This record gives sequence, structure tokens and C-alpha cells, in this order.
Amino acid sequence: MTAETICPRQKADGFYLGGPATWRDNGTCSYCGSMTPERFFECVEAGNELVPTDKNYKVYVRHPNPLAGQMTIRSSANFQVASDWIEATPEVCEQYGWKPYGDGPHWVNPSPEGPTETSKFYFYHLDEAGMHRFIELLNGKRMKLAYPGHFYVPPFFVRFGAPAETAKTP
Ligand SMILES: [Zn+2]
Repeated sequence: MTAETICPRQKADGFYLGGPATWRDNGTCSYCGSMTPERFFECVEAGNELVPTDKNYKVYVRHPNPLAGQMTIRSSANFQVASDWIEATPEVCEQYGWKPYGDGPHWVNPSPEGPTETSKFYFYHLDEAGMHRFIELLNGKRMKLAYPGHFYVPPFFVRFGAPAETAKTP
């Protein structure tokens, strides 16, 4: 018997170590890291830019960063990489909400979050209704596609152009 999961990729991989995937508090799939379909459509409909990839199952979404301007820690090392790196004392960890990992000293460089953030969306998280909704937005040219302005490879459920062959009647 297979545990139920929200993640079709986890289901396909059959990899359930740690249990079935869940939506994390930050709105991403705990197995593949995809944003939720709801959030994806919200971003598209708000006119946020989609960045095409060469994969038929993935797109990147550039959207405003909810943490814009806030100082956060996104890099750490066990040595002082540059003079502006600071030691992750308990006070520093507390101040930036940073969780140390492993043993030994950690050095971090708090820096301001940028105005935009790029998240990924995996198309296999769409159900059939979601695929229809996607196609309607695409056909209606209501999707803002970053360079080159089209999908290099169409999403796996999308087909461009005329039918390959029209059935011939004898
Ligand atoms: Zn997933």
C-alpha cells in the first residue's frame, strides 16, 4: 500500500522516506519544492513574470519578495569569508531567526532581501482543471513570459501547432 501524497512526483518516485509530502508553511511542497498551484495562478494573474526553462515540467516565477529590504541570512561558512561576515552567536541567531546546524563555528553575512524572488513551479502539481486554466491563460496571452517570450519546450500537457495528420477518409 502506498501512502497518500500531495506530490505526484513523490508518487512516481515511490520515495516515501519521512512520509508523504505536505505543503510547508512557506507554501512549497516538502518533496519537490514547488509552489502551490493556487499561488502559481495568483502570481500569473497578478502579471508576474514566468521564466521559461528547457524542461517540459518546470517554470520559474519571478514575484515580489515579501521580505524585501529585510536583513536575512542566506549564506554561512565555518570560517570568516570576508571582513563583513559576523560570527553566529546565539544573539545573532536570535536576531535573524537563523538556525545553526552541525558543530563548530559558523560565520554568516546578513544582507538585505532583494525586491523580487524567484520560485519554481512544477506542472505536475496541476490537476486537470488546473491544466485547462493554464491553457486558457496561455491562449488568452495573459501569461507574461520572460525571454525569449515563449516556452522553449511546451509544458507536457500543451501542444502547439496544427494536428500532425488529419484523418483521411477513403
Ligand atoms: Zn511536489
